[in-house]
Amino acid sequence: MVVRLVFLRGISYNKLYFQHGYRVWRIFVENFIEQIDKRRTFAIISHPDAGKTTLTEKLLLYGGAIQQAGIVKGKKGARAAVSDWMEIEKQRGISVTSSVLQFRYNGYCVNILDTPGHQDFSEDTYRTLMAADSAVMVIDAAKGVENQTKKLFKVCTMRGIPIFTFINKMDRDAQNPFDLLEEIEQVLGIETYPMNWPIGSGKEFKGVYDRNKKEILAFQHSGKVGQQQAEKIEAQLGDPGLDELLTKPLHDTLSEDIELLDGAAYEFNLDKVRHGMLTPVFFGSALTNFGVEPFLADFLRLSPPPLPRDSSAGPIDPRREDFSAFVFKIQANMNKAHRDRIAFIRICSGKFERGMDVFHVQGGKKVKLAQGTQLMASEREIVEEAYAGDIIGVFDPGIFSIGDTLTTAKTPFAFAGIPTFAPEHFSRVSQVDTMKRKQFVKGMEQIAQEGAIQIFKELGGGMEEVIVGVVGVLQFEVLEYRLKNEYNVDIRMQNLPYSFIRWIENEDCDPKALNLTSDTRRVEDFKGRKLLLFTNAWSITWAEEHNKELRLSEVGR
Ligand code: GDP
Repeated sequence: MVVRLVFLRGISYNKLYFQHGYRVWRIFVENFIEQIDKRRTFAIISHPDAGKTTLTEKLLLYGGAIQQAGIVKGKKGARAAVSDWMEIEKQRGISVTSSVLQFRYNGYCVNILDTPGHQDFSEDTYRTLMAADSAVMVIDAAKGVENQTKKLFKVCTMRGIPIFTFINKMDRDAQNPFDLLEEIEQVLGIETYPMNWPIGSGKEFKGVYDRNKKEILAFQHSGKVGQQQAEKIEAQLGDPGLDELLTKPLHDTLSEDIELLDGAAYEFNLDKVRHGMLTPVFFGSALTNFGVEPFLADFLRLSPPPLPRDSSAGPIDPRREDFSAFVFKIQANMNKAHRDRIAFIRICSGKFERGMDVFHVQGGKKVKLAQGTQLMASEREIVEEAYAGDIIGVFDPGIFSIGDTLTTAKTPFAFAGIPTFAPEHFSRVSQVDTMKRKQFVKGMEQIAQEGAIQIFKELGGGMEEVIVGVVGVLQFEVLEYRLKNEYNVDIRMQNLPYSFIRWIENEDCDPKALNLTSDTRRVEDFKGRKLLLFTNAWSITWAEEHNKELRLSEVGR
């Protein structure tokens, strides 16, 4: 207790103290801190089909958040959709938008930020990672590190958040575990520490060996998928008794592997884990629910509670009494019947209470946070209170932008903005009916403001010709659909050959004076920042080599 109170010095709970005395004050403070310290907010990242949805379902099962697996997403038409916010999601049977799932487990309050797992993922996926305190990376044991995992991983390392690895589908034939670890280290550039070790794979899969507890979690092949009850067996490696359980060859391999691992260079180092330099690795099988609970237990033990966030006033401690949050996602017309706009905010300090007044820093005005919603399954639940680490949706009368700060602090501050990520697909967009110019411009600007697309124009130009950039091509479909349905505008789209974008970081740069390849285009974004569109990587090198002062960035800050 002493440590905690010392830590709290400087935080103003004075009023409470003077009105109700030390005891009440202490109970209040302890409860407040406990609420925050027991929160875990993370995102699951993976390449499509690695098993992210399945793992999420199994985690929710442990939290009792759902009664049976299979309701997280309406994938492949087999399950009912959690998020039916947009017709397009229903039609395609995929989740376009990210949702937030909260459950309690073992005294922890767990927030899973669900990111779209489809091939056509979007910038939303990246932004969601800005709201997470850690990430779980799911890897298909047969396929290893795949393309999309690499991209998402890069965003996580940019923030230095802890990354936990779940190597999935061990019930199927898998790559050699040493090769998998080496691939993670080589391709992603992060050290690995296997927390458990697989014994065979596919038909031969016998379970995993827990390195810490020195016990075997035995896998039983049974017809019933998803209902596996794994048996824990204390294991003395080398004990002939294990030959029967594992078969002699697998027992021998396990003993050798563990000897190798224990002698290996990498040691477990929590500090490295917390800084995203070392990833604890778990082997398991989400579909058969094997190894998921031990993973969850270790993950909750090792992952950090809400972390301080950088702001214009320095790092903001989550245990501060003042409420503060930032907007990381805006979702318009989530429900046609409501026709509203919801801003998703990540609470960074203090406590949210329904109806509270906060200061909207970028707007320079006080606003009432009248509605707080949390999303679970297809229902919206009204939130009465929420703490640092939580994600809630608040009603947005059209005033918020991505990255905005809300706070009750006496001296307001702004959280470091959310970067704009480099789009990879570009189209020229114009309206079919020129009479609808006004609606077109309004629609394009609003949808861009929400961060659903990025728009670019000629340097100093207007909205006559708009170039739309997206991270995933599905965003084009979403744009077309929304302009038609919400703004009654039909559009024409023409694909452009650009695949790379770089923001010009030099403040005083005149893009017209740059020496560039003829197919490089100079444009500016919604916020007036100057940038270059390239058709190939070679042109980027050319630009850098022929303009020595030029500083280019993959993210717009
Ligand atoms: P996501 O695209 O990453 O969300 O992947 P899903 O969770 O939808 O899984 C993709 C496919 O892999 C589905 O058919 C799952 O049933 C299957 N799958 C997921 N986990 C496992 C596993 O541990 N073992 C096996 N054999 N299949 C799995």
